[in-house]
Amino acid sequence: MSSIKLDIVTPERKVYSQEVQMVIARAVTGQLGILPNHAPLLANLEPGLMRVKINESDEEQIAISGGFLEVADNIITVLARTAELPAEIDVSRAQSARRRAEERLQESQDKVDYARAKAALDRAMARLQAVGRK
Ligand code: ATP
Repeated sequence: MSSIKLDIVTPERKVYSQEVQMVIARAVTGQLGILPNHAPLLANLEPGLMRVKINESDEEQIAISGGFLEVADNIITVLARTAELPAEIDVSRAQSARRRAEERLQESQDKVDYARAKAALDRAMARLQAVGRK
């Protein structure tokens, strides 16, 4: 089976670097499925779950809090604001962040507050989804 390289980096660290079979990501324009030898592409990512098919039996779920995805020369490069593998996720921290964001959404009086709370909620939900707690 052919493969494509997936590199995920954040300003803080290199999160992932591996040959994979397929990546499914949430772009602003909708869901993207990327297979080996995909045409060149640049996409803006929404906070959400990235699903990575490594081989016939293994799949990885990675929480991404927004960023960019580029495909070129059979390499997918994700420049993410933050990204975590399930084992790196602190579930109670994400649950607290979700509660806080939900409270702020209820209370928010202006658009900026609302947008910030919604973005925080999306990040928390992506983390909880990655660990199967949503
Ligand atoms: P919080 O309000 O809990 O800080 P946040 O969504 O505001 O959450 P970010 O600004 O997205 O946090 O991330 C800051 C740093 O903390 C990043 O390095 C990110 O990977 C890490 N991080 C955030 N939440 C978690 C979590 N639940 N488990 C593990 N790492 C996390």
